[in-house]
Amino acid sequence: MSARIIEGKPVSERVREQVRQEVAAWVEAGNAAPGLATILVGDDPASEVYVRNKRKACEAAGMQSIHHELAAEASQGEVAALIQELNGDPAVTGILLQLPVPPQIDGDEMTGLIDPLKDVDGLTPINAGLLSQGREALVACTPSGVMELLKEADVELKGAEAVVVGRSKLVGKPVVQLLLAEDATVTTAHSRTRDLAEVCRRADVLVAAVGVPRLVNADMVKPGAVVIDVGINRVEEGLVGDVDFDAVKEKAAAITPVPGGVGLMTIAMLLANTMKAARLQAAAKA
Ligand code: NAP
Repeated sequence: MSARIIEGKPVSERVREQVRQEVAAWVEAGNAAPGLATILVGDDPASEVYVRNKRKACEAAGMQSIHHELAAEASQGEVAALIQELNGDPAVTGILLQLPVPPQIDGDEMTGLIDPLKDVDGLTPINAGLLSQGREALVACTPSGVMELLKEADVELKGAEAVVVGRSKLVGKPVVQLLLAEDATVTTAHSRTRDLAEVCRRADVLVAAVGVPRLVNADMVKPGAVVIDVGINRVEEGLVGDVDFDAVKEKAAAITPVPGGVGLMTIAMLLANTMKAARLQAAAKA
């Protein structure tokens, strides 16, 4: 039997529409429209496209887009000064430093300078720490998108065996924390995991965030599992995920496609985070 396909499009459109309505009500109540500041250092073409899409989505949701571009040879001091300026600017609700940054700049250190209440990417140590303590936080966008898809697909997480392949700060680790918060029993696998196939076969819910095309094959999937593919890999035929979609869909109960799955959720969750940041900042001032 072929798996149910968990499509990102309707879920991301619903989240975007919800945010648009929230922003309208927020402004109607006399507040300034939330402002998302994007910082692009250098001229990496992929990053340019990502930032352009984020800005467009932000405007479509009724928010202000405030964009800053720095030259590829910008110094760390320049980036730091811009972040500090945006931290102090009341028109800026959220700050997004587009990663990766050029090699002379320490992306972790710069991200760490962002005011945690404006950290709409959820990557500062404060927000990562709050998340790991199960406290209110701005959560990284792609992991939030994974959870939104699981919720939409009505996947039972309480007590479920979840396996997350990948332990990055951006995806794997926050997904682990979010699954734990939903009472799943979570195993984290990574490049040093001894028998990856055996570990993956335990999973009722399998999340792949690896960056290796089609690493997860049908032999690694328990019949009836729910498989969430975060991977975006460019190969000759186009974009593919970390899961061998065609084979795994014959074994899983539900699966996200690539493209058209998790990838569509990231910007939607960024907008949701920016609205959330506006509320958190207002509450902190009250
Ligand atoms: P990353 O920082 O490179 O982390 C990859 C993780 O996978 C690491 O923890 C690594 O283990 C593990 N890994 C690598 N090879 C492995 C193998 N053969 N077996 C088991 N584990 C292995 O990547 P990332 O930023 O988390 O991104 C992962 C994927 O998601 C990429 O394809 C990326 O393009 C995609 N992505 C998509 C979105 C989106 O949908 N919008 C957003 C972000 C990322 P070690 O820790 O041991 O090195």
